[in-house]
Amino acid sequence: MTNRPGTHECEAFGCGRLIHARFLFCLRHWAMVPWDTRRMLRTHGKDRESTLYRYSLLRARADIADEEVMRFAPSTEEEIRYDKAARTIGVEAERLLECIVRGEA
Ligand SMILES: [Zn+2]
Repeated sequence: MTNRPGTHECEAFGCGRLIHARFLFCLRHWAMVPWDTRRMLRTHGKDRESTLYRYSLLRARADIADEEVMRFAPSTEEEIRYDKAARTIGVEAERLLECIVRGEA
């Protein structure tokens, strides 16, 4: 998909909605981000290359995918897909957090 200038796709798994470049998620998905994660994103958003920012973004994406799982009936193709995404992104976030804690990142 070719984005219009100043836009990009929502960062949520499976969304693809085009949004203004200054936002990370479309409104629907931003509403699913827990308050503590929103606070982390704001705090570390000044340096988007920082490990803490990357961790916050992964945490938000995992939480959103986790929330999306609830929309689907158990064991349907979509439910399985979102559940897998939530766990994969969650594991990635936890790995990064372990590196932060150990002082390796
Ligand atoms: Zn979205």
